[in-house]
Amino acid sequence: MSSGKVYVIGAGLSGLSASVAFASQGARVVLIEGAGQAGGRCRSYLDPVLNQVIDNGNHLILSGNHATFAYLRTIGSADRLAGPEQARFPFVDVRSRARWTVAPNDGSIPWWIFSKSRRVPGTRLGEYGNIGKLLLAGGDKRIDQVIDCHGPLWERLLRPLLLAALNTEPEIASCKLAGAVLRETLLKGGRAYRPRIAFPHLGSTFIDPALDYLKRNDVNLQYGKRLRKIELADGRATSLEFADGAIPLAEEDRVVLATPAAVTADLLPDVSVPSEFRSILNAHFAIAPSANAPLMTGVIGGTAEWAFAFPDRISVTVSGADAIVDRDREDLANVLWLDVATVLKAGPQLPPWQIVKERRATFAATPGQANRRPKPETRWTNLFLAGDWTDTGLPATIEGAVRSGNRAAELALRSLNR
Ligand SMILES: Cc1cc2nc3c(=O)[nH]c(=O)nc-3n(C[C@H](O)[C@H](O)[C@H](O)COP(=O)(O)OP(=O)(O)OC[C@H]3O[C@@H](n4cnc5c(N)ncnc54)[C@H](O)[C@@H]3O)c2cc1C
Repeated sequence: MSSGKVYVIGAGLSGLSASVAFASQGARVVLIEGAGQAGGRCRSYLDPVLNQVIDNGNHLILSGNHATFAYLRTIGSADRLAGPEQARFPFVDVRSRARWTVAPNDGSIPWWIFSKSRRVPGTRLGEYGNIGKLLLAGGDKRIDQVIDCHGPLWERLLRPLLLAALNTEPEIASCKLAGAVLRETLLKGGRAYRPRIAFPHLGSTFIDPALDYLKRNDVNLQYGKRLRKIELADGRATSLEFADGAIPLAEEDRVVLATPAAVTADLLPDVSVPSEFRSILNAHFAIAPSANAPLMTGVIGGTAEWAFAFPDRISVTVSGADAIVDRDREDLANVLWLDVATVLKAGPQLPPWQIVKERRATFAATPGQANRRPKPETRWTNLFLAGDWTDTGLPATIEGAVRSGNRAAELALRSLNR
């Protein structure tokens, strides 16, 4: 291993996974985070109103997210995920109160779509051909340019799943990104899309065990230190500037910039980054769900989209929430609780609540924005980019963030060993 250091800027999942990858290879790592805690857009904290630890937002991963699982195995927390033994997706339509469970089979031949009791009620077999069209579509098309975005399969399965994966109105979202998700999940069979949820919190699954791992591997982790400027000269980064001074970079040092798209654009104005974002809104209700409540239920026809039942709380997610994100918080709590009360058969009385608005939750997964994503390599030989918004081929997800961190670390290490 070279005598140089690797500086990772940003301790979100991409920066953490890059740091874990570096540390596992024996590199000397300095991880610098601008905020007072790690986790970025995937974090837990003690909420003073509810007096409970909550997540900034519910995060769903799927059993086929192989990079995420490898990361969790390395840091020792792969067992801190909950979810059904098989791919099962319970749904409730809050208008008609209809309830059904989509029940795919494990293998890659999707015989479940031939079974009326396992496929989405009211769907015709022919509609499932749309999944194939999305898988095959190439180029820069929007989803509504490739399939008919109407009908029971669209309303009751494809739209909710694609909205959750892309966090963008699926009709105008990138077909290529949708296809990438479907290829790694639906195409491989139910085994690859068993839903998995950090249990009981994001922090105790994705973040704290990573910090313990980094500590055990002598990573120098610094909080509350925002990178303000990167000095660039002769085709390389030469120093990192912070409020309390600059860190000069030796020839052998490497930098992974794992900051959000907008921050990276300020630091490196030449680099193209996505410029449009979508919000996600979460409501947390401090009430124990009934014992038989499914961990996760899809909500159709309401304001809520997914309801998550944890032992001490019920949390609701609304993706692509830009149309409602500015509404009054109490209004939102009331409206969302109405949906939850129907879905989880709870009483009408509003429990203690908290609303968390993430205005720039992810980049807008449209074809135009996808084309603005940069590669991890830059024209500065010692500087690499990571983040869910870089060109991972996936939408902005945990899996994309982890892969981007791994890839940036791999490229940086390769450049050191050259
Ligand atoms: C509410 C919500 C729900 C989501 N749901 C899901 C889901 O269900 N499934 C899923 O797979 N994904 C989900 N995501 C997306 C997932 O959270 C992200 O893809 C992932 O966390 C991004 O990690 P990152 O490291 O790329 O970016 P970030 O988490 O944004 O990390 C960047 C880090 O850089 C730090 N930083 C910023 N500026 C500086 C600076 N100048 N100097 C030093 N540090 C700096 C930030 O503080 C932050 O810690 C969700 C996101 C949100 C917000």
